[in-house]
Amino acid sequence: MASLILKPGREKSLLRRHPWIFSGAIARMDGNPASGETVDILSANGQLLAHAAYSPSSQIRARVWTFEASDVVDADFFRRRIKAAIDLRNTLHETKNTDAYRLIHAESDYLPGLIVDRYNGTLVLQSLTAGSEYWKDVVANLLIEETGLTKIFERSDADVRQLESLSPRVGPLRGDTNQLILIITENGLKFHVNIETGHKTGFYLDQRLNRLRLREMADGRDVLDCFCYSGGFTINVLAGGAKSVLSVDSSSDALALCRENVSFNSFPPNRHAMLEGDVFQILRKFRDEARSFDMIILDPPKFAPTAAQAEKAARGYKDINLLAFKLLRPGGFLITFSCSGGIDASFFQKIIASAALDAGVEAQIVEHLSQAPDHPVALNFPEGGYLKGLVCIKLNKQ
Ligand code: SAH
Repeated sequence: MASLILKPGREKSLLRRHPWIFSGAIARMDGNPASGETVDILSANGQLLAHAAYSPSSQIRARVWTFEASDVVDADFFRRRIKAAIDLRNTLHETKNTDAYRLIHAESDYLPGLIVDRYNGTLVLQSLTAGSEYWKDVVANLLIEETGLTKIFERSDADVRQLESLSPRVGPLRGDTNQLILIITENGLKFHVNIETGHKTGFYLDQRLNRLRLREMADGRDVLDCFCYSGGFTINVLAGGAKSVLSVDSSSDALALCRENVSFNSFPPNRHAMLEGDVFQILRKFRDEARSFDMIILDPPKFAPTAAQAEKAARGYKDINLLAFKLLRPGGFLITFSCSGGIDASFFQKIIASAALDAGVEAQIVEHLSQAPDHPVALNFPEGGYLKGLVCIKLNKQ
């Protein structure tokens, strides 16, 4: 087996069990491994630290499969990891209330680069790295054996694949996956999910608990759901008894899905309206028109995928949150999210605090929100925790 030898002192992050080996940490390679092949990782003084997948094109040159020197990375190894991930979901209560959840959350399930989501009877697999690509067929067979399901659709079209010199691939992987629009049931509500063209692998599974929470808070409120996509929050606040819901998105396709999901759940259309456009502009227009709401949801796309974009992203978050605070009635809830890996929870909270200050609003955080438990965060891999949300209540000025 090929070996990758680190520069002196560069074993530190591996000893803390962080699974990434950056190109700058590498002294030399003994051998000539193919893309995705397993390599030994050795410290400068020859200690075997880990077995890892080799990514020749990426700055993250290798990702650790296992820190156990005695482990052999083979089909049996992947079977154990997949079983452990499935067992974890079975012990999590919310899988009882939904037929759609994340089965494998990449590094945080000790399977770097591999995402597997379950939508009813179909699995959707997303391979993001050379290593997960190398083992894809083995993993697909194991998933069939271990879940008892027969259908796997592949959605390996995320942009990050370019960093690994992998071209996109979308299509059937196992079984008959001709049905591309699936119906899932989550906490008694139904959604259409397009596994071929939908965002991520089709649906924002990570927001499941937050959807339920907002449903509990929506009774009697006028709700503005910004960046609504296919209506995950919209449907839930309608189910929670919202007086009115206005769903905003810049994508007409997203709004079409949202409308379909509203009627699919038999909500009378008179409580629901939609608006196509840019949230930044629409919030300004509403401010100028002195419109007001008593619940505003902000769930924008990733403004800062990495720390390098954090400053610019912070301005974007501040802008929409400042406007939302202004549109909120006293006693109203602002539910605001960031899924940017480049902005951590404490920075996000500072941005929201400065938005409230500049809006001339007093507000309290009444709840911190995060990703659902089927998106665990391995303690050795804090990058796995990306979704943060705050529920703020706007106070009457004293
Ligand atoms: N809240 C959704 C997920 C939001 S994803 C859910 O829970 O399912 C982000 C959405 O923002 C996408 O649907 C995208 O079309 C939309 N979007 C991106 N930029 C926008 C903008 N400037 N104004 C309005 N919508 C935008």
